[in-house]
Amino acid sequence: MRIDSCRKCGIELCILKYCHGCGQPIQFECKKCQKLTDEQIHFQCMYKPPLLLVS
Ligand SMILES: [Zn+2]
Ligand SMILES: [Zn+2]
Repeated sequence: MRIDSCRKCGIELCILKYCHGCGQPIQFECKKCQKLTDEQIHFQCMYKPPLLLVS
């Protein structure tokens, strides 16, 4: 799994949000300049029920 680094200050981004379908990180935040990346939408996961809501 690759974590991008901030384009501005170059430090490693922190994971902010995980995909409900596959559990992969989909949104990151730079703690230094507090910039959020765009959320990556996994279209292949959107139609699957969330893993955590299996009852
Ligand atoms: Zn930054
Ligand atoms: Zn996913």
